[in-house]
Amino acid sequence: MNALKISILSDKSASSRCRAEHGLSFAVEADKRILFDTGASDLFLDNARIMGIDIDSIETVALSHGHYDHGNGLQYLSGKTIVAHPGIFAQRISGTSGRNISIEVARADIEAHGNRFVLTREPLWLSEQIVFLGEIPRVVPFENESRAHFHFTDGQPDVVADDSALAVTTDKGLVVVSGCAHSGICNIIEQARKVTGVGTVYGVVGGFHLKHADDRLASTIDFLKQLEVKIVMPSHCTGIAAQCAFYQAFGGNEVKTGLQFDF
Ligand SMILES: [Zn+2]
Ligand SMILES: [Zn+2]
Repeated sequence: MNALKISILSDKSASSRCRAEHGLSFAVEADKRILFDTGASDLFLDNARIMGIDIDSIETVALSHGHYDHGNGLQYLSGKTIVAHPGIFAQRISGTSGRNISIEVARADIEAHGNRFVLTREPLWLSEQIVFLGEIPRVVPFENESRAHFHFTDGQPDVVADDSALAVTTDKGLVVVSGCAHSGICNIIEQARKVTGVGTVYGVVGGFHLKHADDRLASTIDFLKQLEVKIVMPSHCTGIAAQCAFYQAFGGNEVKTGLQFDF
C-alpha cells in the first residue's frame, strides 16, 4: 500500500486554527516523512505544532527553489539534510516590485545550526516512493517562455533554473508536489513521468505560477485533461483567474493551512 498524506503548514489561505502567509511549506508523508519548503517565516513551525506534526523527527527537507517565501524558514531548523538545486543562493530581484526576493539567510548561518546541504542538478530519490526531480528540462512548447523573466539575477533575466519539485509514487499513480513551478507545471510533470517511469499522474498540488485567463492557462488545462489527472490543487502563487479555471475543469479542494490531504 503506497499511501501519501500532505499537510499544509504554510500557504496563502488561513483555516479556523492556522494562520496564513505568502509562502509555502508542506509535510509530505509516504514511506518517508519529508518537509517540502519552509515558508517565508517560522509560521510553518507554529502550524505544525497546532496540527500535531513533529518537525524535529523529520530528517530530510526538500527545497523547491531559492526564493524567500520557500526558504526563509530554513533558519529555524537544525540537524536536517536539505536537498536542493545548487542555484538556490542566487541573489534575486523582483522585476515587478524591485524587491530582493532571495532567501534572506546565508548558507553558512543555516549550516551553523547543524544542517547539511545536498545540492544536486540531477534527480535524487529520497525514499522508494519519493524523488526530488532536480533541474527541470523546459520541453513543453507553451511553457518555454518562462514567466520567471520578471525576475533578475545580477541584472540578467532569471529563469529560476533551480526550480524543482517532488514526485511521489502511489497506488493510484504519481502525485506531483510543486513549489512555485517557475519551470512550468507541465515541464515538471514531464520530468516526474520520465524520472519515475510512471506514466499515470493522479494528482498535482502546489504553486502553479499561472495568473491570468490566457492561452497558457488553457493549454495547461488541456495538458492535464489529456493525462486524465484526477486531483488538481493549485495554491500559493496561482492567481484567482487560474484557480477558478482549474476548479471549473477539475473540481477539488481548496488548499488552506491546517488541512491534510490523503492520496
Ligand atoms: Zn513562491
Ligand atoms: Zn518563487
